[in-house]
Parts: sequence; structure tokens; C-alpha cells
Amino acid sequence: MNVYEEISELKRDALARGIPIMQDAGMDFLTSFLDTNQVSSVLEIGTAVGYSAIMMALSSPNLTITSVERDHERYLEAVKNIKRFGLENRVTLIFQDALDIFVEEKYDLVFLDAAKGQNIRFFEKFSKNLNPNGAIITDNMDFHGLVQENEENIESKNLRSLIRKLKMYISYLEDHPNFSTTFYHIGDGISVSRKKLD
Ligand code: SAH
Ligand code: MG
Repeated sequence: MNVYEEISELKRDALARGIPIMQDAGMDFLTSFLDTNQVSSVLEIGTAVGYSAIMMALSSPNLTITSVERDHERYLEAVKNIKRFGLENRVTLIFQDALDIFVEEKYDLVFLDAAKGQNIRFFEKFSKNLNPNGAIITDNMDFHGLVQENEENIESKNLRSLIRKLKMYISYLEDHPNFSTTFYHIGDGISVSRKKLD
């Protein structure tokens, strides 16, 4: 199998098992962002089985990635997948709840793709790990279009609460004194937040 077939298989298998990997359009956006902005280091929150980390690493030969996952089975699967693509020298996986880790290093990009209700906490925590021109990208900002949906039309209580939290995150980003954020309706919705120049 060549690398493209390996990727297709990884993707097909993840989707078949309901693992919420990044959509193609979002993935394209992210990899061109890495290229355009000459990103050389990424901190990813939410590895799942390593799909987005592998895609980023393959698209950008000098990139190093640290990725955090709290689910043990997924973490173990990601470890296997990273090896399968021979990326273990550039992708470091951490098995822990991202809210409990202590990260000292600085990164060009922080990619938030974990529990959607915790984005504000992730943002507060990991914005301290950005290089001066760094950015924070968040996935699933539209959440299958439900963020734009009327609240009464969302039947599940848990889902309503999650959407409310995502809206709070949007307001948080819009009102942030030190970051300016652009929202893109690409893939499942992506936001790019950059530090304001002082
Ligand atoms: N980035 C992946 C998809 C991630 S899915 C890709 O596109 O291929 C979201 C993952 O975040 C899930 O596997 C979930 O277990 C993990 N997650 C959720 N909250 C987390 C937390 N607080 N710390 C670490 N991982 C978390
Ligand atoms: Mg996602």
C-alpha cells in the first residue's frame, strides 16, 4: 500500500467507527495554513487515532507535533498509526487530560480539537504556549450547522448545552482583548485566533 492508500484506509476505518476526524475541507485549510504561515511546531489537543496529526506531519516535512489524548484506547491506536507512517520522530503523543498537563514549550500553532464544551478553558490554558506570532485554530465551530440553528429546534438537552457553550466560546473570542479571531465556514467550521500586536 502506498501512503495515499494507507491514509484512505485510516480515514475510512475511523469514520466507520464514528471517530470524529477532521473533514477534508478543514484538513486542506489546516495544511495550507501550516504552509502559508511557515508553521514549524504544533500543539494539538485531541489526537483521537492520530489522523489529523499524520495529515499535518505528511504535508509539512519539517513540522513537529505534540498531541494530547485522554482516551487510552484511542491513544494506543494513535501510537500504532504514527509508527505505521514512520512519524514517531516528529509526532509526540501524550496520554493525559489536556486540562491536567503542564506544558512549558512554545508552539507556532495550537490546534484545539477536543471536548467542545471546554474550549474556553483550553484557550485560556494554551494561549500561554504560543510563540510571538503564533495562532490558535479551533475545529468544529459550526458543529454540524447547529451553532446557526434555532435553539428550540435542538431536541437533546445535552446537545443544547454544548451548543450554548460553543456560542459562549464564539463571544469569548469576539470580545477577547488580546486576540483577534476570524471564523471560516469551512469543513465543520474553523476559527483562527491571532495575538493582537501591541
Ligand atoms: N484531531 C482528531 C480528532 C479529535 S476527536 C482528528 O481530526 O483526527 C476529539 C478527541 O479529543 C477525542 O478522541 C477525545 O477523547 C479527546 N478529548 C476530549 N477532551 C479531551 C481532553 N480534555 N484532553 C485530552 N483529550 C480530550
Ligand atoms: Mg474536529
